[in-house]
Amino acid sequence: MPIDLRSDTVTRPSDAMRDAAAAADVGDDVYGEDPAVNELEAAAADRVGTEAAMFVPTGTMGNQIAARVHADRGEEVILDRMAHIYDWELGGLAQLSGLQTRSVDAVDAVPTPEQIHDAYVEESLHRAGTGLVALENTHNARGGVAVPPAAISAAADAAHSHDVPVHLDGARLFNACVALDVDPARMVRDVDSVLFCLSKGLGAPVGSILAGDAAFVEEARRVRKLFGGGMRQAGLIAAPGLLALENVDRLAVDHENAARFAAGLDGIEGLRVSDPDTNIVQVYTDELGVDAETFEAVCAEHGVLGGEHGEYLTRFCTNLDVTREDVDVAVDRIADVVAELRD
Ligand SMILES: *Cc1c(COP(=O)(O)O)cnc(C)c1O
Repeated sequence: MPIDLRSDTVTRPSDAMRDAAAAADVGDDVYGEDPAVNELEAAAADRVGTEAAMFVPTGTMGNQIAARVHADRGEEVILDRMAHIYDWELGGLAQLSGLQTRSVDAVDAVPTPEQIHDAYVEESLHRAGTGLVALENTHNARGGVAVPPAAISAAADAAHSHDVPVHLDGARLFNACVALDVDPARMVRDVDSVLFCLSKGLGAPVGSILAGDAAFVEEARRVRKLFGGGMRQAGLIAAPGLLALENVDRLAVDHENAARFAAGLDGIEGLRVSDPDTNIVQVYTDELGVDAETFEAVCAEHGVLGGEHGEYLTRFCTNLDVTREDVDVAVDRIADVVAELRD
């Protein structure tokens, strides 16, 4: 079996999750009658300290629903140029909601208040106006960066000073909270909605949560139906999600493993390795003169799977199915890869 570090989405559900799925008390969730979904939504809202929460099949759908609820057709969304919602969701903001983007270069993974003030567009006869500010934590493409709550709040305050709502793409929200030792409710205190994935580091087979106040979630339920996400006996997939919420604290293990992996790789000449905040390690092979496509392929031949994320950038992501021993083996194998590529 290769050591699979392509993503934290590749994990298999535990036996307990499979048992919970089989035993779930279900009903028609479009009627609000699925007990397992209702229990998950209540527990999830409690976890992030919001009035309400809604189960969605994917993080992408949750983000896109949030944008649709918050902003009107033609309006602009201010976001980082490397934001997932902008760069990795097939232009969904435009395709699904007729929104435009105004990207900024958020070098610290969150737009500064100044960037938000500068990017803000007031509605007028000529201009559509800003309809949303979208933030991301942890920031995936910038390397799993854990953004401190003060920076999230500062960005939110800047948006709110213009009466613009704020959505937080927290696909890996709990990774940020565990890494920074911050209560999730504090992290999301000043945003108007938050998305988090159950299917990444938390290990659920399927599903994400979109949370916010009751009025937001009520409207989000209509948009979820519009986007084709109204599911029926969804308790079968919600029940494992409830167990996934118990995996929050163990994200610290993924972070330790990522740090160990990065330290190991850093000792290999030719690789440039990021210093990970959380579970994502970025490896650059430009000094080696080998592109990421080749590096990834040779790593795979040696039994380590990563993902190409740029011309010379390969991403490795620790997860629930990867142990400390696996990480050590992976480092040894990558040392062999580099030796082979140098020949
Ligand atoms: C994975 C991810 C998403 C999308 O989640 P899916 O469940 O894969 O649709 C959104 N935002 C970020 C930052 C992600 O890493």
